[in-house]
Amino acid sequence: MSYVFPPPEVVSVPVSGSALKYAAHRVYCVGRNYEEHAKEMGFTGREPPFFFLKPADSLVVVPAGETCTMPYPSLTKNLHHEVELVVAIGKAGKNILAKDAQAYIYGYALGLDMTRRDLQNDMKKQGRPWCIGKGFDHSAPIGPITPASQLPNIEKASIELSVDGVVRQTSTIEKLIWNIGEVIEHLSAAWELQPGDLIYTGTPEGVAAVVSGNVMTAKVTGLPDLTIKVL
Ligand code: MN
Repeated sequence: MSYVFPPPEVVSVPVSGSALKYAAHRVYCVGRNYEEHAKEMGFTGREPPFFFLKPADSLVVVPAGETCTMPYPSLTKNLHHEVELVVAIGKAGKNILAKDAQAYIYGYALGLDMTRRDLQNDMKKQGRPWCIGKGFDHSAPIGPITPASQLPNIEKASIELSVDGVVRQTSTIEKLIWNIGEVIEHLSAAWELQPGDLIYTGTPEGVAAVVSGNVMTAKVTGLPDLTIKVL
């Protein structure tokens, strides 16, 4: 039995302190999950979490200590950074309660939910899907995954993004509107989660544009820094 064409390689993310690789399955993202970011996007109040997806092959895997590159994407004049904590699911489950969610988490990583904001805004206005604004090629830089057992205080970690050394986004994971367990509860009611599923949990305030030549450095307490340059 052979294929019509060679099947694509499995997209995988390195695991900190290990030779193991984490094979990616789906990339889920949570919209507007920090109050101050919701406000800067023109929304107020606590609404139920909502989700969108990026293709697994839009991940740009950035090993610890390396500076990788992403091309400036087509069609946009307003490419935005969104620094996010990423949850890596380690076992299958559906209808998971928030209080049980920890058992389904393999680890955590730093991620950037890169966004063609002009295209996303056009789609919002027209009530159309966000795919073209969010799910483009190279739209999901991600750093190595650190096992959850090494990050007992992740819910209190700080999160930060700087561009060319200037801090643009800074907050703490405590400020998530829907915390990690609650996100997993809502998400797993809609989809059966699988090992390999990555969840970008939302970005704090301070999203802004980057241009060719900018170097973005993302930090979360306890995780290796993620550095990527826009070509
Ligand atoms: Mn986001």
